[in-house]
Amino acid sequence: MLQYKFERLDSNKNELGNFLLDRKPEKCPICNSIQEPSFVSAYKLNDNRIEAIFKCNKSTCKHLFISILKLNINYSVYNCTLSKSYPTNPVRIEFDEDISTISPLFVNIYNQARNAEGIGLNHVAGMGYRKSLEFLIKDYLIKHKDEDEETIKEAFLGKCIKQYLSDNIKQVAERATWLGNDETHYHRVWEDKDIKDLKKLIDLTVYWISSEIQTDRYITEMDSRK
Ligand SMILES: [Zn+2]
Repeated sequence: MLQYKFERLDSNKNELGNFLLDRKPEKCPICNSIQEPSFVSAYKLNDNRIEAIFKCNKSTCKHLFISILKLNINYSVYNCTLSKSYPTNPVRIEFDEDISTISPLFVNIYNQARNAEGIGLNHVAGMGYRKSLEFLIKDYLIKHKDEDEETIKEAFLGKCIKQYLSDNIKQVAERATWLGNDETHYHRVWEDKDIKDLKKLIDLTVYWISSEIQTDRYITEMDSRK
């Protein structure tokens, strides 16, 4: 157990107290590096919570962050358990080069949705994932399949998927839009599915699109030398 001092913000008394902490945060939530941050100070806010300030020790970061500590008072000893740290800065998900070249906006919107999900904004995240899927499909059709840009831009996503995509991509992308629409509309149709299923279907769509781009590349490269 680690022992530190806290300052009280939950009463008029300006006293200090000691508390025991089970462990320090194992990584900085801002740069996401695994390391041992330094303890700076801590404040007791109410009966069940202390907020502790830590400093990241990575030379390129050095930011301060706050960790929430849950408090159990045991025979007047303040025992704390590390809960969560913030602000969070989730690691950006990188997609393979084919995907990020064809649709940089898909990558951006997907990561924004993921950030929203990371801070508990589930409703906004669901709509974001649905939007990212639309950019992925339409950019793929315009940039890789050479479909007419104006036609694709104006068409509903459902029509683009049904009309222009090969079977594997169509099957997963169509189901992703069904769940995506549930995240966007008033009435939920797929009660037993959630944002995790939507993400899984988007991942599968990315997988099939990426496979198709790589297959096309090998065919073009090798057939031209036959
Ligand atoms: Zn850091």
